Amino acid sequence: MKEAREARDQQLTVALRIRPISMVELEEGAALIAHKVDEQVVVLMDPMEDPEDILRANRSREKSYMFDVAFDFTATQEMVYRATTKGLIEGIISGYNATVFAYGPTGCGKTYTMLGTDREPGIYARTLHDLFKAIEDTSDDMEYEVSMSYLEIYNEMIRDLLNPSLGFLELREDAKGVIQVAGITEVSTINAKEIMQLLVKGNKQRTQEPTAANQTSSRSHAVLQVTVRQKSRVKDILQEVRVGRLFMIDLAGSERASQTQNRGQRMKEGAHINRSLLALGNCINALSDKGGPKYVNYRDSKLTRLLKDSLGGNSRTVMIAHISPASSAFEESRSTLTYADRAK
Ligand code: ADP
Ligand code: MG
Repeated sequence: MKEAREARDQQLTVALRIRPISMVELEEGAALIAHKVDEQVVVLMDPMEDPEDILRANRSREKSYMFDVAFDFTATQEMVYRATTKGLIEGIISGYNATVFAYGPTGCGKTYTMLGTDREPGIYARTLHDLFKAIEDTSDDMEYEVSMSYLEIYNEMIRDLLNPSLGFLELREDAKGVIQVAGITEVSTINAKEIMQLLVKGNKQRTQEPTAANQTSSRSHAVLQVTVRQKSRVKDILQEVRVGRLFMIDLAGSERASQTQNRGQRMKEGAHINRSLLALGNCINALSDKGGPKYVNYRDSKLTRLLKDSLGGNSRTVMIAHISPASSAFEESRSTLTYADRAK
């Protein structure tokens, strides 16, 4: 029993990243209400002025939440990458699947963590860089083929971010029962710098990606899919031995979904909320539930169908939840912390 619990704990890692407070938040007079207290614990303070009001709202002034690892404004991109994703690379090369999610409300740092900037590249570029290096360093006489594709799921429709002119793409199961995106662009091994340019360009193709000038919420999931095919040469024939897949996902802003965290309300607002995000939440909840295995319904959305072989089972899942430290973001932060804390 204890072993089973440990195996499952390893299967799901939940991290929390508090981004630095922004100029806008400071100018608006926001206070800092989210603090990391140690490597695993984050405290959120209720900014409500009147203690009586807090009591009436049935809250406590301070609430703490626990994660596998917590980061605040002092964390570098490299630290976040090392503690969450670097450890997955070995498994991917050996034919295991894994998924890394950036979760949280719009404006809290998901794209910064995953894509990053030219000067501060995020998890995408660091992972690919180390993956290529790890393959170079392997001493077996296997051949490895790395390919990547970058897509968006928006309103349950799939678009190729490397070639949007392809229109909407469909999910298909191949002969081995593995889910594929039919017709998607697959880019083979290129250097880390080219990859960053490709991803930045792809990211600009996302639907409603908020910019500094336009803070509309991002309703699309950006999915970077990396496939490592291990092949062995028998005489002159290359045979595929193992396939490992890593999904790195910049999820849609969770603000709409979190308004409906209350299960009863979920149904009523079904038409307005992001179906993939909720289906994913249900899948992760089922995977992490201490009460034992539950039925995981991957068929509920495009995202969970795509991830069918990379969530649960032998696959490892990392969720990096994001919040702002500002008092103006209290409600969003509270629901994000609750969602992520519950996931463990
Ligand atoms: P999201 O993708 O969740 O909507 P972004 O990643 O676009 O949020 O972040 C919003 C803004 O905050 C961006 O200008 C981004 O550069 C900045 N930002 C987010 N996280 C950090 C961080 N850890 N350090 C510095 N700037 C950050
Ligand atoms: Mg974003």
